[in-house]
Amino acid sequence: MAGRYEPIESPDETTVFPYHDLTPPTVATVARARRRVRQHLPQTPLVRSEPLSEALDADVLLKREDTLPTGAFKVRGGVNLVASLDEEFRDAGLLAASTGNHGQSIAWAGREFGVPVTIGVPEDANAGKVAALEQLGAEVLQYGADYDEARERVEELAVEREARYVHSGNEPALIAGVGTAGLEIVDERPDVDRIFCPVGGGTSAAGYCLTLGELTDAAVVGVQAEGAPAMYRAWNEGTLAALDSVDTIAEGIATRVPFALTTEILRDGLADFRLVSEEAIEDAVARLFATDRIVTEGACATAVAGALQAGSDLRGETVVIPISGRNVDREKFDRLLAESDY
Ligand SMILES: *Cc1c(COP(=O)(O)O)cnc(C)c1O
Repeated sequence: MAGRYEPIESPDETTVFPYHDLTPPTVATVARARRRVRQHLPQTPLVRSEPLSEALDADVLLKREDTLPTGAFKVRGGVNLVASLDEEFRDAGLLAASTGNHGQSIAWAGREFGVPVTIGVPEDANAGKVAALEQLGAEVLQYGADYDEARERVEELAVEREARYVHSGNEPALIAGVGTAGLEIVDERPDVDRIFCPVGGGTSAAGYCLTLGELTDAAVVGVQAEGAPAMYRAWNEGTLAALDSVDTIAEGIATRVPFALTTEILRDGLADFRLVSEEAIEDAVARLFATDRIVTEGACATAVAGALQAGSDLRGETVVIPISGRNVDREKFDRLLAESDY
């Protein structure tokens, strides 16, 4: 088909292709995703944290997405996208840009379904992360000085190879896939009052809005780093303008460009959106290890910091915090523990 693999006009400052349908998924779409996802991934535990429950005088439940293969929730989206992939895309394979959990998710799902995957990362990408992607069978393309240069190269390659580019936010199948975590919570605890969700590109928070937010009385609260408030601004001001730069230790949510699809869902479904400081994020990483012996990356700790910031507002409530990922850099983790008071 003419132009099928050429970029089209984008509603935001990212590159999109004709196969990027920007219609928000519904809860029925998420239910269909769940049937696919559960054939490949276990349901994750919802476990009460005694220390956080005591600190907040609330019933605090942790959704342990860190127990999934790859150690982060994103693999739910990868599995749903690849499981429902049009036949025409399977042979040429999938391309994505990511130094982190998005890349691992697509690589894991590609291996699971026998679809070739190429992940673009910057030239100076951490050797451990490159090795992890290669271990999952992905071709790793090291290109450019930063994420955006690697991403642009991947987008060109998607045109050259006539292959499918997997966007990190404007993908209904990723959002529906990650939303399956929300349906698991609805089944177990329909009485949840509030969920604090870390926001980078917004797929995770969108998934909770479409499930917990639609099916129960739970308030879905987004939390972003003060140093990387792209989606926060989009939610508040309705602008899809990119930030010039972002600066946070939480690299999993260091997103410069807001995405049109997730912004639409979050503006409709988020009850509140909060920003937290770098200090609060660093403190939350150390705290969760000290009190619960859980290893988290900064992106995940952002939601914990958001709940701690809400403090006494949560008294008596049932509160869920997703443990969204555990892929923290070892040196960073050691430094945060050494510098903390715990
Ligand atoms: C990607 C990621 C997030 C943020 O998710 P978005 O869907 O980009 O908003 C949070 N935590 C971890 C561990 C992640 O990998």
